[in-house]
Amino acid sequence: MKTYSQIVVHDGNKNLIDILDISVLSTFTGNPIHVHAEGLRGTGKTTIIRAYKSILPFIERIKGCEFNCDPRAPHCPAHKNLNMEEIDKLGVEKIRMPFVEISASAKKGTVVGSIDLEKLTSKDDPRAALLLGTIPKANRGILFIDEINRIADISPEIADILLDVMGTKPGRIQIEEVGLPTVEIPVNVTVWAASNPDEEPGPLEDVRKQLSDRFDFVVYVDKPHGAEVVKSILEGKIKDNGLSEIFKKNLYIESRKRIEKFQIPEEIKDALALCYVNFNLESIRGLESVINGLKMLSALYDRDVNPKDVTFLARYALKHRTSEKNVFEIIKFIENTLTMNRIKRDEAEVAYFQKNKADESEKINKKIAGNNKSIIFDRFKFLRWPFLSKKYKTMGSNNNPADVEIKAPPQKAKKIDEINEQELIKTEEELK
Ligand SMILES: [Zn+2]
Repeated sequence: MKTYSQIVVHDGNKNLIDILDISVLSTFTGNPIHVHAEGLRGTGKTTIIRAYKSILPFIERIKGCEFNCDPRAPHCPAHKNLNMEEIDKLGVEKIRMPFVEISASAKKGTVVGSIDLEKLTSKDDPRAALLLGTIPKANRGILFIDEINRIADISPEIADILLDVMGTKPGRIQIEEVGLPTVEIPVNVTVWAASNPDEEPGPLEDVRKQLSDRFDFVVYVDKPHGAEVVKSILEGKIKDNGLSEIFKKNLYIESRKRIEKFQIPEEIKDALALCYVNFNLESIRGLESVINGLKMLSALYDRDVNPKDVTFLARYALKHRTSEKNVFEIIKFIENTLTMNRIKRDEAEVAYFQKNKADESEKINKKIAGNNKSIIFDRFKFLRWPFLSKKYKTMGSNNNPADVEIKAPPQKAKKIDEINEQELIKTEEELK
């Protein structure tokens, strides 16, 4: 089995790694995001999924609890009624986030669990106990199912269990035993699945549509295309692939701390709501998946989400929920709506900025003009006052030029550059 850092990242598998990171972080915050990796045999999808086992973060549980009870919210039959003090007494331990796998030949009893008949019939200490199945053991972690299309085809009862587990968050499982009351346990499990849609019995959405719809994201994994990448795989070259185990472990821990730091912009929520209305989507689940994925992306990359993030996630959230043509149209719609909004917003910002700038320069010009005007006006006050005086107005009404009273400065006219400034500055008194 390859370790995480031995995986060679290329165009064909990069998107699966990005989506799995989103899912791990979301599981770590207590909200499962289910992922289905589709692809031909040999594309390495199961290798990548299994390699994640070694980089999963640690979670806290009540010491020894097989159901992985969260000390702050215990749910198993043994711990659900305990108070904080009693839990403290039992102690708390750290375990790696569970990663368990069920195979195509799995049986219902081993998957959900059963009543422990041995304990029930014990002569010394007879008591009802549960023999835990794979799913409750995966609580607060990952449940991996390879060849999910085959399981859905040959074991419809396992598919029914998965529907219950993935139907709500948290999901639930029922443990039934003939002649005994049914036990129901809540489980918070993230399901990762893999399948080859080209092999029998075909794509999961054709085998069991309802189960296919339970996956938040379906990612198509492809073969590497470049010869360089193939060469690196052959050489087992692992340098510079960006997949450092320590880096990833820390990334989930750091990202969880900033999960509330970013909000999904209203315009993105509006665009997604319009998709639902305009494109006749069957359920709202796909859009919820996009929103949840966006929250994780902003925390993982420590930045606000952008239109590209939305189309990236919408592609995988809708692939199995509507026709290929519709997905194409929706992506185009999201791009146009968000880009248009962006352009409009940018234009509005530019216009606002330019207007402000214009207002500002107008103010400055006015100020300069005002200042200049006042300087000029003050200096030539003696020249202009007759035109503004009441006398001038009366003069204006006199039609006979001979009767016009001549008012002129005492000096002879001079060129402006010949005038000494001192001569120009007059006080009110001097002008009277
Ligand atoms: Zn417990």
